[in-house]
Amino acid sequence: MTRGREKKIMAYVVTGACVDCVYTSCVDECPVAAFHEAPDKLLINPETCIDCDACVAACPVEAIHAEDDVPEDQQEWIAINLTAEEFPVIEAAKDALKGPKCVNPNAA
Ligand code: SF4
Ligand code: SF4
Repeated sequence: MTRGREKKIMAYVVTGACVDCVYTSCVDECPVAAFHEAPDKLLINPETCIDCDACVAACPVEAIHAEDDVPEDQQEWIAINLTAEEFPVIEAAKDALKGPKCVNPNAA
């Protein structure tokens, strides 16, 4: 399936469960620094991601999905991750945000 992108399609996507939780434990698993830090969430840069699957199990709120497995009610997150380059790369885990909208502040 083509999405009008020249390099490749996106393979891994951060979805809504990350918002305001931002545990960042996924970051330390990524071998290519594909995560970018927006104010209330992380996003995966599809130009950097090598589709290795290493980050998925590290997320305590199961926010990361392969693009083909993004739940129906989270489909808008595929487009949101395309904006990742608007935000700085995050290369190391840090304290979780655990803001008021975090779906599970006790997950980790
Ligand atoms: S581990 Fe999950 S909740 Fe934490 S920053 Fe990564 S995607 Fe977001
Ligand atoms: S799938 Fe691999 S390369 Fe892509 S964001 Fe996750 S850990 Fe990084």
